Amino acid sequence: MVVGAGPAGLATAALLRRAGLEVRLLERDAAGARADGTALTLWPNALTALEAIGAAAAVRARSAPAPGLALRTARGSVLQYLAPGVMEARCGGTGRALPRVDLMAALRALQPEGAVRCGARCVGVRQEPGAVAALLADGGEVEGDLLIGADGIRSRVRAALFGGDDLRPCGYAVARGVAHHADPRHPASLTLGAGRQFGLFPLPEGRMYWFAAFTGSAEASADFLREHFAGWHAPIPAVLRATDPADVTVTAVHDRRPLRSWGRGAVTLVGDAAHPSAPALGQGTCQAFEDAVVLAHCLAGVAGDDVPGALRAYAARRRGRAHAVTVQSHWMGRLGQWRGPLRCAVRDGLIRATPAAVQVGALRAQFAFGPPTSARG
Ligand SMILES: Cc1cc2nc3c(=O)[nH]c(=O)nc-3n(C[C@H](O)[C@H](O)[C@H](O)COP(=O)(O)OP(=O)(O)OC[C@H]3O[C@@H](n4cnc5c(N)ncnc54)[C@H](O)[C@@H]3O)c2cc1C
Repeated sequence: MVVGAGPAGLATAALLRRAGLEVRLLERDAAGARADGTALTLWPNALTALEAIGAAAAVRARSAPAPGLALRTARGSVLQYLAPGVMEARCGGTGRALPRVDLMAALRALQPEGAVRCGARCVGVRQEPGAVAALLADGGEVEGDLLIGADGIRSRVRAALFGGDDLRPCGYAVARGVAHHADPRHPASLTLGAGRQFGLFPLPEGRMYWFAAFTGSAEASADFLREHFAGWHAPIPAVLRATDPADVTVTAVHDRRPLRSWGRGAVTLVGDAAHPSAPALGQGTCQAFEDAVVLAHCLAGVAGDDVPGALRAYAARRRGRAHAVTVQSHWMGRLGQWRGPLRCAVRDGLIRATPAAVQVGALRAQFAFGPPTSARG
């Protein structure tokens, strides 16, 4: 059983079916997983995982590659810039952006007809030797040999295993939107201000994905954003003007301190259920795809009695990389919220003085996902 048909659940289900397992995919929403969230960026590690998942070609066809990567100040000075050639040759590739609805369509296309059981909200888990059951809100149960919680940041499966809800508010919110603004040669960019950041990423078909992070709560209207980013460098004000206010989504950012364990017995977690991270590195979905590939590898060919061992091997392989992203994203997010002029000047100076080789090395490590080829364990 896979609980949750978001990116993590859909990718995991597709891979497990291909490995010969019978999969039941349970989704809370009556109409299937939501496809909002405007757009997102996927980095080379996600594309490597998507090759194994079987959706890389569809994602490439629906996304735009970032022509380089820039860090800038609100006035537009460039603090750091990596040209597309440098990213391809030394970082393992560049990022790509696509509407979330297109990513979901590419992942749903991998599922057989009727594979997602919609309106199936999991409210608990019951385990006994050799069997596990998902308890549903309508009083029903679904039984199987193993259960994978892919039910996102507020995972009920995680809560059933470990109790409580220890989400950590990060103290800032992120507004996101898609503008009808064509500038396909604009590098992917992150602009740092005082307690605010603005990101830009070209999309196919004359559109631009943008996100704005700002200290405080998730109360941000289109007017608030236009006012707060009015004096920022081009094309930020134009991009905000070219966005339909009804399409702006605002999310209060939370993450969770890394869990010591990702599962118990025949139950494990993937994606945000296991390791919700602040979005500062744009790695949440990328890491979910890595989880799916490693989990399917560990489960392939496992006899029923060794499921717990396979799930432990999966978590042991994945925890280091996923938790490094959680920790780095947390601190990057906080750095982006620095406010005082002196602190911001120090931050910008440090970024400017950091040799490009250091940034290249950090990105190369982040983007380096090698799908497992050895025997599990
Ligand atoms: C502001 C912001 C920007 C981001 N930008 C990026 C980015 O650019 N790149 C990137 O890689 N990541 C990004 N992320 C992270 C990304 O959105 C998540 O990491 C990703 O959605 C995780 O996928 P998931 O399938 O684990 O969880 P989700 O996408 O949350 O999917 C969980 C699914 O489980 C279902 N579900 C929930 N509870 C139950 C239940 N009890 N029973 C049954 N079903 C249930 C839900 O309906 C949903 O379909 C961003 C996040 C935020 C907040």
